[in-house]
Amino acid sequence: MNSVSLSVPEISLIAPMYNESEGIDKFFQTVIPILDELSQHWEIICVNDGSKDDTLARLRDYHERDPRIKVINFSRNFGKEAGTTAGIDFSRGQAVIPIDADLQDPPELIREMVGKWREGYKVVLATRNARREDTWFKRNSALMFYRLISAMSEVDIPKNTGDFRLMDRQVVDVLKQLPEKTRFMKGIFAWLGFPTTTIYFDRPQRFAGETSWNYWKLWRFALDGIFAFTTLPLQVWTYLGAFFSLGSFVYAAVLILQTLLHGVEVPGYASTMVSILFLGGIQLVSLGIIGEYVGRIYKEVKGRPIYIVQESLGFYDPA
Ligand code: UDP
Ligand code: MG
Repeated sequence: MNSVSLSVPEISLIAPMYNESEGIDKFFQTVIPILDELSQHWEIICVNDGSKDDTLARLRDYHERDPRIKVINFSRNFGKEAGTTAGIDFSRGQAVIPIDADLQDPPELIREMVGKWREGYKVVLATRNARREDTWFKRNSALMFYRLISAMSEVDIPKNTGDFRLMDRQVVDVLKQLPEKTRFMKGIFAWLGFPTTTIYFDRPQRFAGETSWNYWKLWRFALDGIFAFTTLPLQVWTYLGAFFSLGSFVYAAVLILQTLLHGVEVPGYASTMVSILFLGGIQLVSLGIIGEYVGRIYKEVKGRPIYIVQESLGFYDPA
């Protein structure tokens, strides 16, 4: 059965879910009273991102009981960014809020967000105060990432701010028109602009289940952000190359002088090896970086969809 709630929602909450079965009851228990209190017309869009547990079955039950809980089921796991994108595409609310289903984005903040939105802000960011609950390594690598990307990129990506934010319908409509397939959401959100305000919060531990991010995924994610939002890594090689070419002229002059003054010298193995290895290394790194961009261009050019919806429940007019 595909029951449909006909009222146009004021608030859309978007929760991408990957193996969230354990925490799902708690999620709805927390979120629904808050939405009820804020608005008469809301929707929660849950995106089942190829979960291997019974998340989908649980969502179906919830949808049967309350058609304001809508479900998008992906054909496989496409990643959190794709889930958020799908939810945004399908949403109809005047205010749209992506939220983590594990309650690490405290739903109580929705009150404050909606308040700010009603004051007239088009975007309300939720920024984490500190990262005390993260490991030392995660905290510092995140810090380095934000430093690096803000030094290189012309958009100002807010620090320690995830996808948890409120966006006005106007912002969402612009967002939906962006064609890029690499969805580095925090960057894209920041690139859009609009009058923005920030509220601060402490991020709690995951309520149930476990994080699906390992360090390799985080590293690839950081690279997505950097390569999607700056072309600086492509351009530095010109300068580095120029620097080394000039240096090699100077070195050649030194060698000529030495030969003139002291005659032909046979040794030179060390300097030759060092320069070959060093330049070889630099060339490989620069090739790799070009590869990262070419790979992304290739992905964009193929134009494959960001996600595939196998089934959707509760949408009157699927986008
Ligand atoms: N998530 C998803 N697809 C994935 C990985 C995660 O939809 O491939 C969802 C997950 O269910 C949760 C949110 O994205 O609602 C955040 O994931 P997680 O808690 O693993 O990330 P962390 O909080 O550690 O950054
Ligand atoms: Mg989490």
